[in-house]
Amino acid sequence: MIDPWSSAIIDYEKLTKQFGIKPFGNLKEEINNPHHLMQRNIIFGQRDYGRILKSMREGSDFAVVSGMMPSGKMHIGHKMIVDQLIWYQKKGADIYIPIADMEAYSARGIDFEASRELAIYEYITNYIALGLDLEKENVNVYLQSENRNLGDLAYILSKKVNFNEMRAIYGFSGSTNIAHMYAPLIQVADILLPQTEECGGPKPTVVPVGPDQDPHIRLTRDIAERFKGKFNFMSPSSTYHRFMTGLTGDKMSSSKPKSAIFLSDSPKEVEKKVKSAKSGGRESLEEQRKLGGVPEDCTVFELLVYHLEPSEKKLEELRESCKNGSIMCGECKKNAASMMKNFFEEFSHKREEAKEKAQKILDREPK
Ligand code: SF4
Repeated sequence: MIDPWSSAIIDYEKLTKQFGIKPFGNLKEEINNPHHLMQRNIIFGQRDYGRILKSMREGSDFAVVSGMMPSGKMHIGHKMIVDQLIWYQKKGADIYIPIADMEAYSARGIDFEASRELAIYEYITNYIALGLDLEKENVNVYLQSENRNLGDLAYILSKKVNFNEMRAIYGFSGSTNIAHMYAPLIQVADILLPQTEECGGPKPTVVPVGPDQDPHIRLTRDIAERFKGKFNFMSPSSTYHRFMTGLTGDKMSSSKPKSAIFLSDSPKEVEKKVKSAKSGGRESLEEQRKLGGVPEDCTVFELLVYHLEPSEKKLEELRESCKNGSIMCGECKKNAASMMKNFFEEFSHKREEAKEKAQKILDREPK
């Protein structure tokens, strides 16, 4: 069982086998200009992605749904999701961004007003500053608690789900509060909302997630089938990406400040964090020259792969230089830290500019 509120999943292969997630693998060859996260196998799995490929190829309607739970500061691992949304926006997708304030309330005890503030000044601000155009007509950003269509849909869908099923999927017990039990149904409705009549009817929909969110995807796909007669839903598609390792070598988490680079960090802070991140280097310089480093076990290399180095060629050259011991961690970290600092110098300006726009996004009527 995967618990979407607390899982740290590392064995991706076992997971794909156990839950029937298909490899993303060769699909990237069918995509015109695939995202670098696809190119670099960070997006490793999918369900029913073929129908998304078809929509992109034919230029027909499709949607992407990616929720945000406003529960803390955004870190660089979260940037991956926004990068994917930007890519899908360029491919013509309708973008749906539910803000999970109901889930934040039921699972984390965060009140609605705090969620709204956090959503605007942290999440929406960062999304805009990273380059996602939230003002476009086909972008729908909403608070779960304020979207009436969503609430109605969740209620209708919950008629065909019972407690035993929720317990089997999420491990709920007799002491789980009802709001927490109901929260996944709201998420199911988030994913199916783009296919309702108000949002233009049935269409392929993709949800890019980390594998810890797969229970929601499986439940949604099952429920979509159960309501096929009423809504003619298409089963939603999904993609799965690997999590970023924290700078300390374990999971990157907002609750462990040393493990993460936060999008609100200053350029100086990020430079320092990269320089002191855990690397795949050896005990001594002599040993490293002789044996080479281990880029697969290096959080600095990971930062380059996920975010900093756009060139495949340069990445490969660095991997080689690392493995054959011709570059040392000191020099390598200095380069990566300077790239990160440059990114944040520009990004912190963009964040300031984005705040004003961010305040208006939730004023629009949700669909
Ligand atoms: Fe990591 Fe660079 Fe050191 Fe290799 S040389 S282990 S990539 S920091």
